[in-house]
Amino acid sequence: MPKYTIVPGTEVPQTPFYYYDLDLLRRTLKTAADEAGKYGYRIHYALKANVEPRILAEIQRAGLGADCVSGYEVRCAVENGFAPQQIVFAGVGKSDREIEYAIRAGIFAFNCESLQELEVIDELAAKQGKVVNAALRINPNVQPDTHKYISTGQSESKFGISYTEVDAALAKLHELEHIRIVGLHFHIGSQIRKMESFAELARRVNEIAEWFESKGVELKHLNMGGGLGIDYGDPDAEPVPDFAGYFRTFRDNLRVREGQTVHFELGRSIVAQCGELITRVLYTKTTAGGAHFAITDAGMTELIRPALYSAHHRIENLTAEADRQPRPTGLYSIAGPICESSDVFARDIEFPESRRGDVLSIRSTGAYGSIMASNYNMRPIAPSLFSDGE
Ligand SMILES: *Cc1c(COP(=O)(O)O)cnc(C)c1O
Repeated sequence: MPKYTIVPGTEVPQTPFYYYDLDLLRRTLKTAADEAGKYGYRIHYALKANVEPRILAEIQRAGLGADCVSGYEVRCAVENGFAPQQIVFAGVGKSDREIEYAIRAGIFAFNCESLQELEVIDELAAKQGKVVNAALRINPNVQPDTHKYISTGQSESKFGISYTEVDAALAKLHELEHIRIVGLHFHIGSQIRKMESFAELARRVNEIAEWFESKGVELKHLNMGGGLGIDYGDPDAEPVPDFAGYFRTFRDNLRVREGQTVHFELGRSIVAQCGELITRVLYTKTTAGGAHFAITDAGMTELIRPALYSAHHRIENLTAEADRQPRPTGLYSIAGPICESSDVFARDIEFPESRRGDVLSIRSTGAYGSIMASNYNMRPIAPSLFSDGE
């Protein structure tokens, strides 16, 4: 069974729950790996998008590395079978304990985000008698066309080392004996649908890499980060994101030297479309102004993206679709049960007349869904079900 469907005569498990289409995940992984493989590019999966063990197992089996943004994610990657040599560790605020753990685990590289962090990593590596690989995360000042909360590569953002500070960073690196600089890292944001933003990133990287080379720094690795967006409006139109166009954009715009390896860190584009959040309508009501509300048993505790980023997810009434009698539509707002006004999945959408007990699917929730779940209002974390029934 691919996307979740109601089978007449069988009971829908207790809602809310996350549902994952493993066939779609495998197809997505194969496409991503094949397209990257054409140019010898390497993909690290960004664990922060989803850490379901079954999903991680598929990703690991497909040969992807891991991109982590906390020491806990580094440990999770190791425990789920990723080779330490395939793990990179980014993040603006790595604690001493997290750094110590990652050094001990023998990860491939730290993506360093400040001069001070370089000093701390050097000191902690010295204590363990090791020399560790580091890539400098440079903030390239590229403005992608995405929501301000998920864009990270503009000059005023907290991420990365400012391009105005690379001189100082290089001077610092000459003093640090326990850090080996292996390359540059970039990540300009998430849910980027315009390939031109990636082309602009590639062109900026060419300039920055050239500057480092002119200073005698050999860059073995160029890491372009992640950020490839997906079609939230119509997930069935593009179940597998445009990896071909994405990697081709870098092939066409990024200058790669002999012996240099290009890395990517993809999260959302790998896992978003294979996931759905299945929920039931608890109540329906009409406001004084005549607006219809359907209140669901899932809320911002299961999917916070609409409340946090004003994100849109496609919502379907599976019970109405399975009905023999077509239902009239109306303007509905779909809202969760949490005591917060922002706990609304969609406002005034054209939606089939909905009734108590109807089963709804909120689409494209495989990335930044379950991983951002909380216990607010003392709610338990919703379970995950898989398309193979296991
Ligand atoms: C979040 C993040 C990613 C993944 O971003 P997606 O938009 O999910 O592909 C990659 N690299 C870093 C450093 C990140 O913080």
